[in-house]
Amino acid sequence: MSREIKIKQDNVPHCPVCNSVLDAHTGTDGTSVLPMDGDASICFNCVTVLAYEITSDGIGVRIPTEEEQKAFDADKDISRIVEIMKQVKNSDQGMP
Ligand SMILES: [Zn+2]
Repeated sequence: MSREIKIKQDNVPHCPVCNSVLDAHTGTDGTSVLPMDGDASICFNCVTVLAYEITSDGIGVRIPTEEEQKAFDADKDISRIVEIMKQVKNSDQGMP
């Protein structure tokens, strides 16, 4: 079973930092959980920690607010995932 949740193709969000298309996401615990507004999201291309933005138009991502950024910086799980993603990205194999 896929762990990815597709986002509507007519409203595909892009990373506000590197402009990569962000058309799917995967939860960190392997379950299919829909994100809540303000939850952390990490771009697979530039490994920037972003914030989900849930609106009536659908799911998007944005640069975190100052308060959200402080919470993300203090979250050890997010820091660990970012470090792993950077290591994978810098390895010969790249991101899956
Ligand atoms: Zn990016």
